[in-house]
Amino acid sequence: MGSGFYQVVATALQSLSSRLLPAQCALCGGACAQVLCAPCRAQYLGQLRPRCRRCANPLDDVSTLCGRCLRHPPAYDATVTAADYAAPVDQLLLQLKFGARLALAPLFAQLLVDAVQQQTEWQAPQWLCPVPLGPARLAERGFNQALEIARPLARALAIPLLPRLAIRVRDTRAQSALEPRKRQANLVRAFVVAPEHAARVRGGHVGIVDDVMSSGHTADALAAAFKRHGAARVTILVMARTPPH
Ligand SMILES: [Zn+2]
Ligand SMILES: [Zn+2]
Repeated sequence: MGSGFYQVVATALQSLSSRLLPAQCALCGGACAQVLCAPCRAQYLGQLRPRCRRCANPLDDVSTLCGRCLRHPPAYDATVTAADYAAPVDQLLLQLKFGARLALAPLFAQLLVDAVQQQTEWQAPQWLCPVPLGPARLAERGFNQALEIARPLARALAIPLLPRLAIRVRDTRAQSALEPRKRQANLVRAFVVAPEHAARVRGGHVGIVDDVMSSGHTADALAAAFKRHGAARVTILVMARTPPH
């Protein structure tokens, strides 16, 4: 048996223990029955700031779109996020993705629901779908962190979840290993709409769920795939957004 097998077993055990024993706060390590203690949650999460309605980058003034979206509108129409991807919230996202601490996913979903409720011009998508992982990455990790967030989020928002609405047709190389310009080229045509769902996407409003949005190229490539299939509107729901440097 290869190391892949042991990794799958280790991931399964880790996720099982984190589901059964959320006895420690994921940030401060203090004893608590929840995944995050109340002081940490109050200190680091739930403080919403003005953001571009389209890409969720922070805005200083009261305009609703950032300069970048005005100059080069992305394929998606709106983005909702719960937090900046910055310390110490980034640690929570890394614990979900690489530590298989799946108990964090319902917390992220709840924070996203709070963010949705703050939107003044929220338009509910007709379906939610996670950013799909390629088969190799899914086999390696054992779960899709975007789907883990999308499940409780769909329940809370009462929006149907279509986990396989989109398919990743190319296992793109780890995006973080590439320089920015190559990242975008790497993602072009990485996604397609599942043939059995193509008819319903036409004219519809799709919601895409992910854990982190950095450059936005992944969200843009997936949104572009939906728009190619005739989607009228695409909304991104992402737990954390990397602020522009
Ligand atoms: Zn804490
Ligand atoms: Zn923007």
